[in-house]
Amino acid sequence: MQVVALAGGIGGARFLRGLLAHLDAAAVAAEVTVIGNTADDIVLHGLHVSPDLDTVMYTLGGGIHPEQGWGRAEDTRSVQKELTAYGEGPEWFALGDRDIATHLVRTRLLSEGATLSEATAVLCERWRPGVRLLPMSDDPVTTHVTIADPSTADGTRTLHFQEYWVRLGAPDALAVIPVGADKAAPAPGVCEAIGSADVVLLPPSNPVVSIGTILAVPGISEALAATPAPVVGLSPIIGGAPVRGMADKMLAAIGVPTSAAAVALHYGARRAGGLLDGWLVDSGDAASVATVEAAGIRCRAVPLLMRDLAASAAMAAEALTLAAVVAGR
Ligand code: GDP
Ligand code: CA
Repeated sequence: MQVVALAGGIGGARFLRGLLAHLDAAAVAAEVTVIGNTADDIVLHGLHVSPDLDTVMYTLGGGIHPEQGWGRAEDTRSVQKELTAYGEGPEWFALGDRDIATHLVRTRLLSEGATLSEATAVLCERWRPGVRLLPMSDDPVTTHVTIADPSTADGTRTLHFQEYWVRLGAPDALAVIPVGADKAAPAPGVCEAIGSADVVLLPPSNPVVSIGTILAVPGISEALAATPAPVVGLSPIIGGAPVRGMADKMLAAIGVPTSAAAVALHYGARRAGGLLDGWLVDSGDAASVATVEAAGIRCRAVPLLMRDLAASAAMAAEALTLAAVVAGR
Protein backbone atom coordinates (compact mmCIF):
# COMPACT_ATOMS: atom_id res chain seq x y z
CA MET A 1 0.00 0.00 0.00
CA GLN A 2 1.31 3.42 -0.97
CA VAL A 3 0.40 6.02 1.64
CA VAL A 4 1.06 9.72 1.13
CA ALA A 5 0.74 12.24 3.97
CA LEU A 6 1.10 16.01 3.96
CA ALA A 7 2.68 17.21 7.19
CA GLY A 8 3.69 20.22 9.23
CA GLY A 9 5.69 19.81 12.42
CA ILE A 10 4.44 18.47 15.75
CA GLY A 11 0.86 17.54 14.79
CA GLY A 12 2.04 15.88 11.61
CA ALA A 13 4.95 14.06 13.22
CA ARG A 14 2.96 12.67 16.15
CA PHE A 15 0.28 11.40 13.78
CA LEU A 16 2.88 9.81 11.49
CA ARG A 17 4.47 8.00 14.41
CA GLY A 18 1.03 6.56 15.14
CA LEU A 19 0.51 5.67 11.48
CA LEU A 20 3.78 3.71 11.34
CA ALA A 21 2.94 1.94 14.62
CA HIS A 22 -0.48 0.98 13.28
CA LEU A 23 0.86 -0.29 9.95
CA ASP A 24 3.48 -2.29 11.81
CA ALA A 25 1.02 -3.77 14.32
CA ALA A 26 -1.48 -4.64 11.57
CA ALA A 27 1.35 -6.15 9.47
CA VAL A 28 0.35 -4.01 6.49
CA ALA A 29 3.11 -3.81 3.88
CA ALA A 30 3.12 -0.10 3.21
CA GLU A 31 5.41 2.60 1.92
CA VAL A 32 4.76 6.01 3.43
CA THR A 33 5.77 9.18 1.61
CA VAL A 34 5.61 12.39 3.64
CA ILE A 35 5.36 15.75 1.91
CA GLY A 36 6.73 18.18 4.46
CA ASN A 37 6.07 21.87 4.91
CA THR A 38 9.12 24.06 4.29
CA ALA A 39 7.48 27.48 4.55
CA ASP A 40 8.63 27.78 8.21
CA ASP A 41 12.25 27.52 7.08
CA ILE A 42 14.54 30.29 8.23
CA VAL A 43 18.21 31.19 7.86
CA LEU A 44 19.86 31.85 11.23
CA HIS A 45 23.59 32.55 11.65
CA GLY A 46 23.94 31.54 8.02
CA LEU A 47 22.39 28.14 8.71
CA HIS A 48 19.39 26.78 6.82
CA VAL A 49 16.89 25.63 9.46
CA SER A 50 13.92 23.48 8.36
CA PRO A 51 11.87 23.14 11.55
CA ASP A 52 9.01 21.03 10.21
CA LEU A 53 11.18 18.59 8.23
CA ASP A 54 13.38 18.16 11.29
CA THR A 55 10.44 17.62 13.63
CA VAL A 56 9.21 14.79 11.40
CA MET A 57 12.72 13.37 10.96
CA TYR A 58 13.63 13.50 14.67
CA THR A 59 10.22 12.23 15.85
CA LEU A 60 10.19 9.22 13.54
CA GLY A 61 13.93 8.63 13.95
CA GLY A 62 13.85 8.62 17.75
CA GLY A 63 15.80 11.85 18.30
CA ILE A 64 13.02 14.28 19.23
CA HIS A 65 12.85 16.13 22.54
CA PRO A 66 9.87 14.23 23.93
CA GLU A 67 8.13 16.91 26.03
CA GLN A 68 8.92 19.87 23.81
CA GLY A 69 7.87 18.05 20.64
CA TRP A 70 10.54 19.85 18.58
CA GLY A 71 14.33 19.97 18.70
CA ARG A 72 16.74 17.27 19.85
CA ALA A 73 16.44 15.25 23.02
CA GLU A 74 18.85 16.18 25.82
CA ASP A 75 20.18 19.15 23.90
CA THR A 76 22.33 21.93 25.35
CA ARG A 77 22.68 25.62 24.51
CA SER A 78 26.43 26.31 24.56
CA VAL A 79 26.62 27.69 21.01
CA GLN A 80 23.61 29.92 21.60
CA LYS A 81 25.23 31.34 24.75
CA GLU A 82 28.45 32.09 22.86
CA LEU A 83 26.50 33.78 20.08
CA THR A 84 24.65 35.90 22.61
CA ALA A 85 28.01 36.92 24.10
CA TYR A 86 28.94 38.24 20.66
CA GLY A 87 25.67 40.17 20.58
CA GLU A 88 24.44 37.94 17.77
CA GLY A 89 20.68 37.68 17.64
CA PRO A 90 17.98 36.77 17.39
CA GLU A 91 17.81 35.88 21.07
CA TRP A 92 14.19 34.70 20.63
CA PHE A 93 15.04 31.70 18.45
CA ALA A 94 17.13 29.21 20.37
CA LEU A 95 19.09 26.53 18.56
CA GLY A 96 20.38 23.59 20.54
CA ASP A 97 23.94 22.35 20.05
CA ARG A 98 22.90 18.94 18.70
CA ASP A 99 20.30 20.53 16.46
CA ILE A 100 22.94 22.88 15.03
CA ALA A 101 24.85 19.86 13.68
CA THR A 102 21.83 19.04 11.52
CA HIS A 103 21.69 22.60 10.20
CA LEU A 104 25.45 22.60 9.53
CA VAL A 105 25.19 19.45 7.43
CA ARG A 106 22.13 20.74 5.55
CA THR A 107 23.72 24.12 4.90
CA ARG A 108 27.00 22.60 3.71
CA LEU A 109 25.14 20.34 1.27
CA LEU A 110 23.03 23.25 -0.03
CA SER A 111 26.15 25.40 -0.45
CA GLU A 112 27.71 22.63 -2.54
CA GLY A 113 24.71 22.74 -4.86
CA ALA A 114 22.51 20.01 -3.42
CA THR A 115 18.77 20.58 -3.48
CA LEU A 116 16.78 20.61 -0.24
CA SER A 117 15.38 17.20 -1.28
CA GLU A 118 18.89 15.81 -1.63
CA ALA A 119 20.03 17.34 1.66
CA THR A 120 16.96 15.92 3.41
CA ALA A 121 17.70 12.47 2.00
CA VAL A 122 21.27 12.65 3.34
CA LEU A 123 20.06 13.67 6.82
CA CYS A 124 17.50 10.84 6.76
CA GLU A 125 20.27 8.31 6.10
CA ARG A 126 21.21 8.85 9.72
CA TRP A 127 17.72 9.04 11.22
CA ARG A 128 16.02 6.32 9.13
CA PRO A 129 12.54 7.73 9.83
CA GLY A 130 10.81 4.80 8.11
CA VAL A 131 9.13 7.10 5.61
CA ARG A 132 10.29 8.81 2.43
CA LEU A 133 10.49 12.43 3.56
CA LEU A 134 10.14 14.93 0.72
CA PRO A 135 10.13 18.69 1.12
CA MET A 136 7.08 20.19 -0.58
CA SER A 137 9.43 22.15 -2.84
CA ASP A 138 13.14 22.68 -3.42
CA ASP A 139 12.38 26.35 -4.09
CA PRO A 140 12.17 28.88 -1.26
CA VAL A 141 8.69 29.50 0.12
CA THR A 142 8.43 31.61 3.27
CA THR A 143 5.31 32.29 5.31
CA HIS A 144 4.92 35.94 6.23
CA VAL A 145 2.25 37.22 8.60
CA THR A 146 0.76 40.72 8.61
CA ILE A 147 -0.25 42.21 11.97
CA ALA A 148 -1.56 45.59 13.08
CA ASP A 149 1.15 48.08 14.04
CA PRO A 150 0.03 51.64 14.81
CA SER A 151 3.63 52.89 14.56
CA THR A 152 3.87 52.37 10.78
CA ALA A 153 2.51 54.56 7.97
CA ASP A 154 -0.18 52.09 6.91
CA GLY A 155 -0.79 50.72 10.42
CA THR A 156 0.45 47.21 9.61
CA ARG A 157 3.67 45.24 9.77
CA THR A 158 4.59 42.06 7.93
CA LEU A 159 7.06 39.63 9.44
CA HIS A 160 8.53 36.16 9.04
CA PHE A 161 6.28 33.48 10.51
CA GLN A 162 8.91 32.51 13.10
CA GLU A 163 9.15 36.07 14.39
CA TYR A 164 5.34 36.28 14.53
CA TRP A 165 5.02 32.97 16.37
CA VAL A 166 8.15 32.54 18.45
CA ARG A 167 9.04 36.15 19.24
CA LEU A 168 5.62 37.80 19.41
CA GLY A 169 3.62 34.78 20.61
CA ALA A 170 1.03 34.90 17.79
CA PRO A 171 -0.98 38.12 18.18
CA ASP A 172 -4.11 38.60 16.03
CA ALA A 173 -3.15 38.40 12.36
CA LEU A 174 -4.52 40.27 9.37
CA ALA A 175 -3.07 38.15 6.59
CA VAL A 176 -0.88 35.12 5.93
CA ILE A 177 1.26 35.15 2.80
CA PRO A 178 3.27 32.19 1.45
CA VAL A 179 5.96 34.33 -0.18
CA GLY A 180 7.49 32.65 -3.23
CA ALA A 181 4.87 29.93 -3.49
CA ASP A 182 3.59 31.17 -6.85
CA LYS A 183 7.06 30.64 -8.36
CA ALA A 184 7.81 27.38 -6.57
CA ALA A 185 7.60 23.92 -8.12
CA PRO A 186 6.76 20.73 -6.26
CA ALA A 187 9.91 18.84 -5.28
CA PRO A 188 10.81 15.81 -7.41
CA GLY A 189 8.56 12.88 -6.59
CA VAL A 190 5.83 14.89 -4.84
CA CYS A 191 3.19 14.85 -7.57
CA GLU A 192 4.21 11.36 -8.69
CA ALA A 193 3.71 10.05 -5.13
CA ILE A 194 0.26 11.66 -4.91
CA GLY A 195 -0.69 10.28 -8.33
CA SER A 196 0.31 6.71 -7.52
CA ALA A 197 -0.93 6.68 -3.91
CA ASP A 198 -3.50 4.20 -2.61
CA VAL A 199 -4.47 6.65 0.10
CA VAL A 200 -3.65 10.28 0.86
CA LEU A 201 -3.84 11.46 4.49
CA LEU A 202 -3.95 14.95 5.93
CA PRO A 203 -2.70 14.63 9.54
CA PRO A 204 -4.03 17.13 12.09
CA SER A 205 -1.52 19.76 10.98
CA ASN A 206 -2.13 23.50 10.88
CA PRO A 207 -4.59 24.11 8.00
CA VAL A 208 -3.05 27.46 7.09
CA VAL A 209 0.69 27.53 7.79
CA SER A 210 1.39 23.79 7.35
CA ILE A 211 -1.15 22.18 4.98
CA GLY A 212 -2.12 25.53 3.44
CA THR A 213 1.44 26.37 2.42
CA ILE A 214 1.98 22.91 0.92
CA LEU A 215 -1.22 23.38 -1.11
CA ALA A 216 0.00 26.82 -2.21
CA VAL A 217 2.76 25.24 -4.30
CA PRO A 218 1.34 25.15 -7.83
CA GLY A 219 0.68 21.60 -8.97
CA ILE A 220 0.13 19.98 -5.58
CA SER A 221 -3.59 20.82 -5.30
CA GLU A 222 -4.01 19.71 -8.91
CA ALA A 223 -2.30 16.38 -8.17
CA LEU A 224 -4.58 15.88 -5.15
CA ALA A 225 -7.66 16.67 -7.22
CA ALA A 226 -6.60 14.16 -9.87
CA THR A 227 -5.37 11.23 -7.77
CA PRO A 228 -7.48 8.09 -7.84
CA ALA A 229 -6.65 7.64 -4.15
CA PRO A 230 -9.11 8.68 -1.45
CA VAL A 231 -8.08 11.81 0.46
CA VAL A 232 -8.87 11.76 4.18
CA GLY A 233 -8.02 14.38 6.80
CA LEU A 234 -8.09 14.63 10.59
CA SER A 235 -9.14 17.77 12.39
CA PRO A 236 -6.48 19.72 14.31
CA ILE A 237 -9.34 21.62 15.94
CA ILE A 238 -11.12 20.00 18.88
CA GLY A 239 -14.00 21.69 20.69
CA GLY A 240 -13.52 24.94 18.80
CA ALA A 241 -9.83 25.37 19.66
CA PRO A 242 -6.47 24.14 18.42
CA VAL A 243 -5.00 21.41 20.60
CA ARG A 244 -1.80 23.47 20.67
CA GLY A 245 -0.37 26.38 18.72
CA MET A 246 -1.95 29.30 16.91
CA ALA A 247 -4.21 27.73 14.28
CA ASP A 248 -7.11 29.87 15.59
CA LYS A 249 -5.19 33.07 14.77
CA MET A 250 -4.19 31.78 11.35
CA LEU A 251 -7.72 30.61 10.52
CA ALA A 252 -9.16 33.97 11.58
CA ALA A 253 -6.69 35.71 9.26
CA ILE A 254 -8.11 33.78 6.29
CA GLY A 255 -11.72 34.18 7.42
CA VAL A 256 -12.33 30.60 8.56
CA PRO A 257 -14.00 29.96 11.95
CA THR A 258 -12.04 27.80 14.40
CA SER A 259 -14.09 24.62 14.29
CA ALA A 260 -13.59 21.11 12.98
CA ALA A 261 -16.46 21.54 10.49
CA ALA A 262 -15.30 24.93 9.24
CA VAL A 263 -11.83 23.55 8.47
CA ALA A 264 -13.41 20.69 6.49
CA LEU A 265 -15.58 23.13 4.52
CA HIS A 266 -12.52 25.32 3.94
CA TYR A 267 -10.71 22.35 2.35
CA GLY A 268 -13.93 21.45 0.54
CA ALA A 269 -15.28 18.22 -0.92
CA ARG A 270 -13.25 16.73 -3.74
CA ARG A 271 -16.42 16.02 -5.67
CA ALA A 272 -17.14 19.78 -5.54
CA GLY A 273 -13.66 20.87 -6.63
CA GLY A 274 -12.13 20.75 -3.14
CA LEU A 275 -9.64 18.49 -1.42
CA LEU A 276 -11.39 15.98 0.84
CA ASP A 277 -13.26 12.71 0.44
CA GLY A 278 -13.30 12.03 4.17
CA TRP A 279 -12.81 13.92 7.45
CA LEU A 280 -12.43 12.83 11.04
CA VAL A 281 -13.60 15.06 13.86
CA ASP A 282 -13.14 14.41 17.58
CA SER A 283 -15.84 12.47 19.43
CA GLY A 284 -16.71 15.64 21.29
CA ASP A 285 -17.49 17.32 17.96
CA ALA A 286 -19.94 14.63 16.82
CA ALA A 287 -22.61 17.30 16.38
CA SER A 288 -20.67 18.68 13.39
CA VAL A 289 -20.66 15.39 11.43
CA ALA A 290 -23.95 16.22 9.68
CA THR A 291 -22.65 19.62 8.53
CA VAL A 292 -19.54 18.07 7.02
CA GLU A 293 -21.47 15.26 5.33
CA ALA A 294 -23.96 17.77 3.90
CA ALA A 295 -21.00 19.36 2.10
CA GLY A 296 -20.24 16.05 0.40
CA ILE A 297 -17.44 14.87 2.71
CA ARG A 298 -17.79 11.51 4.52
CA CYS A 299 -17.30 12.23 8.21
CA ARG A 300 -16.84 10.22 11.39
CA ALA A 301 -16.40 11.30 15.01
CA VAL A 302 -13.63 9.41 16.82
CA PRO A 303 -11.16 10.28 19.62
CA LEU A 304 -8.57 12.64 18.10
CA LEU A 305 -6.39 13.52 21.06
CA MET A 306 -2.85 12.13 20.55
CA ARG A 307 -2.12 11.62 24.25
CA ASP A 308 0.16 8.68 23.53
CA LEU A 309 1.36 6.44 20.73
CA ALA A 310 -1.60 4.07 21.07
CA ALA A 311 -4.04 6.97 20.66
CA SER A 312 -2.21 8.23 17.56
CA ALA A 313 -2.13 4.71 16.11
CA ALA A 314 -5.88 4.34 16.67
CA MET A 315 -6.46 7.64 14.84
CA ALA A 316 -4.39 6.40 11.89
CA ALA A 317 -6.41 3.18 11.82
CA GLU A 318 -9.66 5.19 11.77
CA ALA A 319 -8.35 7.35 8.94
CA LEU A 320 -7.42 4.31 6.85
CA THR A 321 -10.80 2.71 7.57
CA LEU A 322 -12.60 5.85 6.41
CA ALA A 323 -10.38 5.94 3.31
CA ALA A 324 -11.41 2.39 2.49
CA VAL A 325 -15.08 3.30 2.96
CA VAL A 326 -14.94 6.32 0.64
CA ALA A 327 -12.97 4.29 -1.91
CA GLY A 328 -15.70 1.67 -1.80
CA ARG A 329 -13.24 -1.03 -0.75
P1 GDP B 1 3.68 22.61 13.79
O1 GDP B 1 4.27 22.86 12.44
O2 GDP B 1 4.69 22.16 14.80
O3 GDP B 1 2.78 23.69 14.27
O4 GDP B 1 2.78 21.30 13.61
P2 GDP B 1 1.58 20.92 12.66
O5 GDP B 1 1.19 22.02 11.74
O6 GDP B 1 1.90 19.61 12.06
O7 GDP B 1 0.46 20.67 13.71
C1 GDP B 1 -0.07 21.72 14.47
C2 GDP B 1 -1.51 21.40 14.75
O8 GDP B 1 -1.56 20.13 15.41
C3 GDP B 1 -2.19 22.38 15.67
O9 GDP B 1 -3.17 23.10 14.95
C4 GDP B 1 -2.80 21.51 16.77
O10 GDP B 1 -4.13 21.86 17.07
C5 GDP B 1 -2.72 20.11 16.18
N1 GDP B 1 -2.57 19.10 17.20
C6 GDP B 1 -1.56 19.00 18.10
N2 GDP B 1 -1.79 17.94 18.90
C7 GDP B 1 -2.96 17.39 18.50
C8 GDP B 1 -3.74 16.28 18.95
O11 GDP B 1 -3.40 15.58 19.90
N3 GDP B 1 -4.90 16.01 18.28
C9 GDP B 1 -5.32 16.78 17.23
N4 GDP B 1 -6.47 16.45 16.63
N5 GDP B 1 -4.61 17.85 16.78
C10 GDP B 1 -3.46 18.13 17.41
CA1 CA C 1 5.52 24.41 11.47
